[in-house]
Order: sequence, then structure tokens, then C-alpha cells
Amino acid sequence: MDWQQLKDQQKTVEKVLRHAALRHELAHAYLFEGPRGTGKRDTALMLAQMLFCEAAEAFRPCGECRNCRRIASGNHPDVVWIRPEENAQTIKKEQVAFLLREFAYHGVESAHKVFILEEAEKLTVQAENSLLKFIEEPNPGTLAILVTSQIHQLLDTIVSRCQVLTFVPLSDKDLAERLVVDGQPRQLASLAAGLTHNYQSAVDLCHEQWFADAHSLVLQLTQRLQSSSEPILPFIYDKFYPLFNDMPRMTTGLDLLLLWYRDLLNLQLNRSENLFYAPVRETLERQMMALTTDQIVQFIEMILEARKQLNAHVNGLSVMERLMAQLGGIRS
Ligand SMILES: [Zn+2]
Repeated sequence: MDWQQLKDQQKTVEKVLRHAALRHELAHAYLFEGPRGTGKRDTALMLAQMLFCEAAEAFRPCGECRNCRRIASGNHPDVVWIRPEENAQTIKKEQVAFLLREFAYHGVESAHKVFILEEAEKLTVQAENSLLKFIEEPNPGTLAILVTSQIHQLLDTIVSRCQVLTFVPLSDKDLAERLVVDGQPRQLASLAAGLTHNYQSAVDLCHEQWFADAHSLVLQLTQRLQSSSEPILPFIYDKFYPLFNDMPRMTTGLDLLLLWYRDLLNLQLNRSENLFYAPVRETLERQMMALTTDQIVQFIEMILEARKQLNAHVNGLSVMERLMAQLGGIRS
């Protein structure tokens, strides 16, 4: 994370923090709250690096000096990370006691000390209470950053003593980029981001073999819809329906199909910078050439209508049969 990325993804947070940094008026306690995958932890890391970087320019940490690297790997004596121990449901009072002992001393190497408390909603009430005094009467030079995706689970007394910064869900494009940075394959990341705004749900989709298979079957379906020589219903019975065999899966299947036609429409309208199926752009372009804008809009309307029928609990296979008949009718 750097300031520019933060600005692109979390405009308000960036503005508040940058102004505070420029005036040397950072609050002594921040609460970063918002859904998972919105950059809260990375922002905390950047702030800590900014305070200790040996080569920072205009408040931009270099990310490469000894201090920046030690902070990133959790090995800087004046930057303490606290998070639930592996598989633990809570952050224990002892962990907070350790933190408070650490902060009773001045910085080992400089005047600053930073503590970053991840998944703060997992603090036990006891642990929260022992933190209160520390947040209320901080030692000079200390910065506390609490990070949570469940702000309502924190004590009001903690929340009211922190400056609360809310991280908003990412746009489709930013979420996809984030997933790629975190190691997900680009095509699946782009589709998952088109289907959900929730980082964790998107990660879960990318990890499912089912989702990769679904993507490939939807591609095959769009090819078949385009070619009049291949009968489509046997493909629906033998391949498509067995994979999309319940309501949530069928809905995802229709959504993937919808993203395809949205891409076709965007291509036709020369809005091609954020295609969901960018890796198969050539196929998209070939199909786009063979269809008029009106036809693409009709495809989209019919898929949306089919989705409504699914929501109204019409049988998935009947919905697909009807949809295929309608879509075939548009082309011919
Ligand atoms: Zn540095």
C-alpha cells in the first residue's frame, strides 16, 4: 500500500491520514473499521513504516530500508503487532498485558512506538478494559491502531476514545486487483469480483474447483449460443445442468453469463477498459461483431428475466430450457 493506492481505494481515509501526517498531528489512537479485504492492515503497516523509515520522502516510506523491512516482517522492537493466536477465538488479557508492559518503556530505537491490534473485535472484555486506560492516557510518541471488521462488537468506551476511520468495500476493479496481488488467478479474480463485493467470499470462490469449472462451462455455452450448427439442449442436459444443480449455483451460472453479455455491450460501446472476461477478449470481439447492440441488450434482458424466475423458485432446468429457446430466437 502507498498513498496513491490508498487514495484510489479509500479516498476519505487517505485524506484524513495525509492531512494529519503533513501537520504532524496524527491521533494517538485510530480504529480502522470496515469489511475484510479493504486495506486496513496494509494502511496500518504503511503508517508505521512512515514513522520509522530511514529514507522516507514526503511521508512516503521506501518499503526497502532496514526499518521498513523489519516492520513488515514483524521484527521491529518499537512496532508491536497483536492478533489472536493461531485458531484462537479471542485476544487474551495476557497478550494485552504484554503490550502494556512494552509501552511502559520509551521506544528502544527512537521516540516512537506503534502498536497494531488486528481483529480487535476478538479482545475479551477484560482485555478491552485493560486497554482503556492506555488509550485514554497515552505516552507521548505512541500510536495505537486497532483494526476490525466488526466494530459493533467493540465496547463503546473503546470506540469513543479512538478516531474511527471507515474503510469502504472496493470497486470491482480494485477488488480484482487485490485478489491478484494475493495470489488468485486473474480470470477467476475478475469474475469473482464481478459477482461479490465481499473480499472473503471472492477468495472462497477463487479457491473452489467448482467455480473454475463453472467459468469454463459458461464460456462453452456462449460459444454454442453463437453457433447455429450445434444443438444447445443436449449440452444443457449433459454438461451444464449437472454442474449448476442447485439454486445458488444456477444463479451464479446466470450471473457469469450476464457478465459475458455486459462485456459484449461494453465492447460495442467502446467501454473496454474493465472487461470481466479480458483474458479472452478476442473471443468477445468476434462475438460482438456478429451481434447488434439491440440483440445484446435482448440477451441481457432475457438472462435477467430468467434470474427472476429462479428467485421465484421456478425449477432450474425449466428456466434454462426456456432461456435457451429465447436466446436461440434472438440470433436467428
Ligand atoms: Zn524505508
